[in-house]
Amino acid sequence: MSIKTILAAALAAAATLAPAHAQTTVPNGPYGDNDSVASLRTYEQLVAALKSSAHTSRGAMTYGELPWKSNTGRAIPYVVVGTGPAAALIIAQQHGDEMETSDSAVNLARTLANNSTASKAIRNALRVIIVPRVNVDGFDGRKADGTLITDAQGRVPPWRQNYDRTFSTGSVPAFYQRGRGYDINRYHAFRPECPLDNPNFPNIGPLGVLSCENELVDSTQPYTRTDLGRGNPVPEARNIRWLADQFTPVVTLDLHHQGTRVNDGNMVTASTLWPTAAATAQALQSVDAGAVARFTRGQTMAKRVVVVIAQTLAKYPYADLSLYPGGTEPGISRNAYGLLGSGSVLLELRGGIGTKSGGYIQKIGYHASYAVLEELARDADLRGFDPNQAEILVKPANGQPPRPGQGESEPITDGTVAQGMSDDEDDHHLGN
Ligand SMILES: [Zn+2]
Repeated sequence: MSIKTILAAALAAAATLAPAHAQTTVPNGPYGDNDSVASLRTYEQLVAALKSSAHTSRGAMTYGELPWKSNTGRAIPYVVVGTGPAAALIIAQQHGDEMETSDSAVNLARTLANNSTASKAIRNALRVIIVPRVNVDGFDGRKADGTLITDAQGRVPPWRQNYDRTFSTGSVPAFYQRGRGYDINRYHAFRPECPLDNPNFPNIGPLGVLSCENELVDSTQPYTRTDLGRGNPVPEARNIRWLADQFTPVVTLDLHHQGTRVNDGNMVTASTLWPTAAATAQALQSVDAGAVARFTRGQTMAKRVVVVIAQTLAKYPYADLSLYPGGTEPGISRNAYGLLGSGSVLLELRGGIGTKSGGYIQKIGYHASYAVLEELARDADLRGFDPNQAEILVKPANGQPPRPGQGESEPITDGTVAQGMSDDEDDHHLGN
């Protein structure tokens, strides 16, 4: 065999191996040499890891797929751990570029399914529903040929939004990146009788949106601006609402991560917040007599959860907890599930990826979530945690108001805006 032949054979072998290797590489890497980053999973790895965990759990964990697929046709996985009377819902990575929280959620699910006394106690008291990656396309969506999806400008994920290139010219839907997709975390339907509602149609103001569009908009097929007035165009958001309707969770915990605000690489800044859509609840009262009581119940429970989180993170010297300056938009999951009566809490973790803080982010997400579940297992009403302590224990970091959302910064008319988010704004987004 000549050198030339050997080289050709080696090149052919390398070419054959290349696609398989690409499957195991995080898109847009590298993230540095931190070991914790190595566990960030591709879609295929995530599904395999969850199925494997369910399979070896001897019935402690069940694997499921949500009713609506992502727009690239991927099933979105979730797991349920435990058989107890109360339910808790934990969702992560609504924003595709917030990767670390997904690993926290997978590790949490695995721990809950293990043989420890603590996990058994949680399983006996609770059903814990975990969606480790709500936005599977925004992380590493792929076309049929296996290459990464692109937006209208040719950019590839990970990115914040889902994948829906329907609107590239003219006005675009509210909370939508032109030629790319929707911010899933502005599209959660918040009225009990309207699970398919578009929460931003016909417009969003200080009082929220009172309409109920309840048809199924199939975003895997061509659709138009007019269809925004028929129902919710975001399958990932509809999926989470579906879970909330199936399980009626007493607590809904939404994990986010924002990587650009910490420079020292050691400290992780965690922020948390309860539902703040009181004005929407008040407005809903005219058409829904239980709206204010339901919201108050959810908000009170959320504050109890925040107290648990604050007391837990106080034990970790590398974590610093503050109040998240979040908005009042009713389609934010924190607000939507609060309006539905759940103790709905945002946990936003900040710290760099590819530095020491990457591992801390996972640990904090994991420890905070686990502590909430342990306390819920002891008492599903968390009566030992005074909701009035929440505002005492958790203070705003710097008095910064939230960046105005659409509806305040740019008027929403019939569910659309003239400009939409620009990329510059996106980079500075607070992450919720
Ligand atoms: Zn986020």
